[in-house]
Parts: sequence; C-alpha cells; structure tokens
Amino acid sequence: MNEKSEAKKLKYQRLRDKYIYNLSERLSVIREKVKIVCSPDASQETLCELHILVHNLNGSAGTFEVKSISSVSKKLEMKLAAFIKDDVLPEKEDREIITSVLEQLEELIESTQTSDAVTLTSPDIDHRTAESSLIYLVEDDEEQAEHLRELLQNEGYQVKVFTTPDEFRKAYDKSKTKPGAILMDLVFPEGDDAGVELMTDLGLGRQHGIPVIVISVRNDLQGRLAAFRAGACRYLQKPYQPNQLFSTLEGVTGRQPEKPFRVMLVDDDPELLEAEAEMLRDVGMDVCAISDPLKTLEEIERYEPELLVLDVYMPGATGPELAAVLRERDAHLQIPILFLSSETDMTQQLLALNLGGDDFLVKPIQPEHFVLAVTARASRSRQNKVIQQRLELTLYEREREHLAINHHAGVSVTNRKGVITHVNDRFCEISGYTYDELLGHEQSILRSDKHTNEFYEGISQTISRGQSWHGEACYQNKNGKLYWVNMSIVPFLGGDGKPYQYVSVQTDITDNKLQQQELIDARNEAEQANQFKSEFISNMSHELRTPLNIIVGYGELLELSDLCTSDKKGVNYILKAGRHLTVMINEMLDIARIESGHYVFSMESVLISKVLKDSWEFVNLLATRRNISLTNELSDSCDIYVMADMQRLMQIFINLLSNAIKYNHVNGSISLSCKSTAEGGVRISVKDTGIGIKETDIKKIFEPFKRVSHDQKEVEGSGIGLSVTKVLVEAMDGKIDVDTVVDVGSTFWIEFPIYKSETGDNKRKEMTSE
Ligand code: ADP
Repeated sequence: MNEKSEAKKLKYQRLRDKYIYNLSERLSVIREKVKIVCSPDASQETLCELHILVHNLNGSAGTFEVKSISSVSKKLEMKLAAFIKDDVLPEKEDREIITSVLEQLEELIESTQTSDAVTLTSPDIDHRTAESSLIYLVEDDEEQAEHLRELLQNEGYQVKVFTTPDEFRKAYDKSKTKPGAILMDLVFPEGDDAGVELMTDLGLGRQHGIPVIVISVRNDLQGRLAAFRAGACRYLQKPYQPNQLFSTLEGVTGRQPEKPFRVMLVDDDPELLEAEAEMLRDVGMDVCAISDPLKTLEEIERYEPELLVLDVYMPGATGPELAAVLRERDAHLQIPILFLSSETDMTQQLLALNLGGDDFLVKPIQPEHFVLAVTARASRSRQNKVIQQRLELTLYEREREHLAINHHAGVSVTNRKGVITHVNDRFCEISGYTYDELLGHEQSILRSDKHTNEFYEGISQTISRGQSWHGEACYQNKNGKLYWVNMSIVPFLGGDGKPYQYVSVQTDITDNKLQQQELIDARNEAEQANQFKSEFISNMSHELRTPLNIIVGYGELLELSDLCTSDKKGVNYILKAGRHLTVMINEMLDIARIESGHYVFSMESVLISKVLKDSWEFVNLLATRRNISLTNELSDSCDIYVMADMQRLMQIFINLLSNAIKYNHVNGSISLSCKSTAEGGVRISVKDTGIGIKETDIKKIFEPFKRVSHDQKEVEGSGIGLSVTKVLVEAMDGKIDVDTVVDVGSTFWIEFPIYKSETGDNKRKEMTSE
C-alpha cells in the first residue's frame, strides 16, 4: 500500500474511533426516547423520533463496520417501523423486547469500545495520472488518425497511433507502460471484425483492466455486441462529436475534470456526515455537508451543487420530502438526487425515487462504491448541464432569429394536407385575415387567378417530395386585392422521410412589383411613342421634301431669269430658306431612320486620314471665307483604319469641321489629330480657337434643336447637326464628346475601335442601325 492509501487509512481509523467513542452518548439519547415510548406519554411522534435514532445507529454502525451493533439495531428499527406502519403503540410485551434490545446494544457498545478496533477498508480510488493520459489509437485511416491525434493532444493526452492490427499486436505485447485507454476501430482491410478479433486475441479490456473504446462506422447490433463481448466498455459510432469522445475518455480513464465536482451531503448524523464527506473530499470533490435538513434549500441556492446526497430518515424533513420540494422548483429540476439510507424495504425505496430521487444507495455502503456512485452521477450531471447550456444558447439564438423573422415576414405553418395550423401576425397583416379566420382553412383560399393551376401544382409537387420551394407568387387578400410575395416553403420531414408540415416564410413585395410594372409600362409606352414619332417624322419628311424640291427648283430657275433687284432679293430669301429647310429635313430623316432601326450602314475598313482630308476639302471654301486656316497637316498617326460607314463618317467630320468654322473667330484656326486610346481605339479630335461652350451647356448641344451660343442669329444652323452626329457615331460603336473653354475654343472628339493600322482589306459589311 502506498503512502497516500496509508494516510487515508489512518484518517478513517480516527473517524471510526471517534464514532465508537461517541456511541455511548448516542445510546443514552436512544435510551431516553425508549423511556418515553414505553411510558404512558408515548405517541406516534415519539415513536417516529425513536425510529430515526435507531435507523441512524444502524446506518452509521454499518458504515463504520461495527457489524454486531448494526444488525441488532436493524432488528429494533424494523420492529419500530412496523408499529409506525400499523399506527399502533408498543404493547407491554413489545416494550419488554425493546428494553432487552437496548440492553443488548449497551453491552455491545461497551465491548466494542474496549476491544481492538476493526481495520476499516479505506477507499482506494485509483487516480490514474501519467498513465491515464496515454492513449493508444488503432485506426487504419491515416488521415482520420492524424486528425484524432491532434484533437486529443490539444486536450492534453499523449497519443500513440497504430495503423494496422499487426503493428498494434507487436507493440502491445512488448510495451511496459500500459495506456489509460485504447481507441479501437473495428473495420480494417483484414476484415469487418478485425478489431474485435484483435481485442479477443490480446484479451483487451477485461484481463488488463484497460478500458477499450470502440470507434467504428458500423451501426449494426452484431458489431456492437461483438465489441462489448470482446471487452469494449464504450462504443462510439463515426462520425461522433469530439466532445463526446473527450467526455467518454475522461470517464473511463478517471482523469479528474478540471473543476472538482460539487456535492452536497445532507445527513442528520454528524459523524456519518463527516465520514461520507471525507470519502468524497479524499478523491478531490468539493463537498458541502449539512446536518440540518431544513437548511437544505437555502444551502442549495448558495452552494449550487451538481449532486445532492440525501439521507432518507431525518428529523424535521425526510430525504424524499426534501426531494419532492426541490422538484417543485424549475431551477432545481436538473440536480440529481441520491438517497443514502439503510432502508431495505423496496417499497420505501421506490416511493423515495418516485418523489424525485435518481438512485438509492443502501447503507452500509462500501466507501469505494459510494465514491464511484457519486462520481458517476456528478459527471453525468455535469455533462447534462453542458448539454443543457448548449441547448439553452441554441434556443435563445433561434428565438431571436424567430423574432426577427416575425417582425419582417409572414410565416404560416400548414399540415401535410395544406391546412393552416399556425400563422404569425405579419401573415395576418399581409393577407387581411385574422388568425381565427385562417386557422383550419387550406392555404389555397388565398390563391389568385394570376397563376395557372400548373404553377400551384408545381409548388405542391416540389414540397411534397421533401424539397424546398423558393419564388414569387401572387395571392388575393381578404378584400379581393392582389398582393405579391417572395416566398420560401420548407417541408419538415418526419421519421418516415415524408413531410408532416410545411413552413412558409413570405415577404410582401407588392410595392416593388407595382413599381417594376410601372417601369416596364413606361418603357413600353416610351418605346412605342418613339417608334410613332420616328415613323411620323420619316413619313412627314418625304411629304415635305417633294414640295420643297419644287420650291427650291423653281427658285433656282427664277434666279437665272432677269429680275429686278428687289425680286432677286426675294428669290434669294426663298432659296436660302428652302435649302435650310432641306438640310434640316434630311437630318431629321436620318435621326428618325436610325432610331426606328431602318437606317442601313455600309460598314467597311476606312482610312481616317483620307476621310478627314476629303471632309476638309468639302468645307474649305467656308473656311477661306472666314480666313480660318488648318494649322497642322495630318500626321501619320491618322493613317489608321476603323470599321465604319465611309459616307456617314464623312458626314460626321463635315458637321464637326463646319461647326469649328462657324463658331470660330474670323482669322481663327483649326487643328486635326489622331491618338490611340488606352482601350485600344483611336481618338480623332477637331480643335478650334472659337467661342467655346459654357460647361452647363455641354450636355444640351447633343440634343436636337438646342443652340447655345449667345449670338446665334448671326450663325446659320438648325441645332440638329450634333444630335445627328452623336446618333451616327454611337450607331457605329463609337463615342463622342467635347472639351471646351469659353472664349478659348473647343475640341470635339470621337473615338472608334481601331480596325487595322496598315493597309485595310476594305471588306464591306452591311449593318442596320439596330
Ligand atoms: P447648329 O446647326 O446650331 O450648328 P449643331 O447641332 O451642330 O447645330 O450644334 C448645336 C449647338 O452647339 C450650336 O448651336 C452651338 O451653340 C454649339 N456648338 C457646336 N459646335 C460648336 C463649336 N465648335 N464651338 C462652339 N459652339 C459649338
């Protein structure tokens, strides 16, 4: 026996000596009670008091291994119990028996006190320390083994991994230090039962006293039975929660949990109480010992034990009574209760358990049994507490989520037949029905005619297959008004894999839907109006052009004839106005054609420098009249090909160049340049030294008929040229914009993707403006 056990033994010996020394005092208290019970003053109450005293003597004598006193007092206790049960007082004969038993006890106590003390077996609970933290892991899946090793090492275990049964067999035979536990897989390449065979061969579990925990994917009864028969003490099915494994290991290796268990002992016998408390403290538990049962409740509040050990018979309140009171309180429902009594009557035990106890330990109990029973209950209590805390947290989180959903969305629950069993307030708000109006009705009462039967059928088929449905649906509220919801329906599946209810969560999206519809309608309307407008302009232009051509044609003829000065002036006005109108009508016709998608572009690779030169020649006369010069000759950088309609590109340049001349100062200048852009295109710029444009006007100039210069009347124009230019540029995948400073000048630029920088192959490609 080691030093520790020796010390424990001595401690128990001292407690026992003290008990035996105090036995005479116990007996004198009993004697006094017997006197009353045997006198005319006897009552059921005094009988009960005597019974408790004798009962305690019996229990404590058993615990301290004074067997002779225990068995004699037990006889007396049973006799007294019978009187109490029959609600009678002892007759003369009985009184004589009681007195003689008392004498017998007196003699026994005397002889015990003078004889040598009996050696008490002290509890010798094995605290495995270093050994218990060594774990052997037999697992053929190396990845899983490594993962598990890491997890266990983090928990403070040392782990030795064996990946084949053979490797383990050899190592196990040789190893001197045995592990605290073995974690054993069942299925190996050698066979589904290879783990079981290994355990049987080595006699694991039983013979060596090393706990074996089987971890296996097998979930069949055969596998489990075979594992237990081969000596396994626990069976964990993969996949398991790491915590589950840790607590199992803690249990089987005897590793003390970090915090000592908190145990509350209630026993009216102070010596017994002290002995029991010592037994538990000795294995590292935190014990609160109370000898007055009436203080139990307040002490529980203060001490918050993980386990309660109650004596059964106590004055003031019995153990079962205390248990019943405790179980009334929700907060104490979870505390396990162990009854500790010398009660052997099965009915009494069951009655005690019925009142809220969890187990019954019969005195005298072996100290090691007592410690083991308390440890098992306390650790279960702790596990339950952890699980309960986790559940409470999960519940709290779910409740908060629920609250958020309830505020935000309509929720309905229907049974498998589609009958509503629950709706939340928001659902009632959206649908316009009250809770009672909806309950018991099929959800289909809300259907609208916006969807076909197939649509509803589709939903029903999806969810009855156990799948969730998400989408938008239109329903009809109580007043017949339609409303749209974005909805998810989730089926809840029962044990048979079939849905037993459906929960739908829906958000009202009616406003969004209306806005969306309004936008679509507005866009359609605008598109339609634009189409009408373009067609109207296109038709009107044709109608206008014919008479206009006649006016201009006859005007030109008249111009040639011999007219007086004032008539000539008049004809000039007619021609000027006629030509102006023709240009305008042509340009309007272009825009209308492009917008209506009837404009045909003839796309080809076009050399920019050439188009720029030709365009300049076209406006050259206009420039000469105002003495405006082209300051730079076109550089090589403009020898670039772009994919464009040559005629239209020329029209674009002529528009930009004629504006650069018109809105320039007399004697001003124009420069042209080409630069490649970061996006791989080319930017062609027409820069003038003219009047410039105010920043606030820049956007307007690309709109039809918007003229922004202060002195517009002097400059001829219709305000439509730039809008045509923009439409043309964009129709050919280009961009147009202007950089301008008032009184300094403007640079109009357009960008196109580069088609070719060398000689183009001039492939023609027809393209409509669409
Ligand atoms: P317009 O027939 O009036 O020239 P445009 O559509 O070509 O019509 O141009 C619209 C307006 O933009 C012009 O009336 C003028 O106010 C302004 N604008 C165009 N080009 C220039 C420029 N190079 N410098 C200053 N203002 C310009």
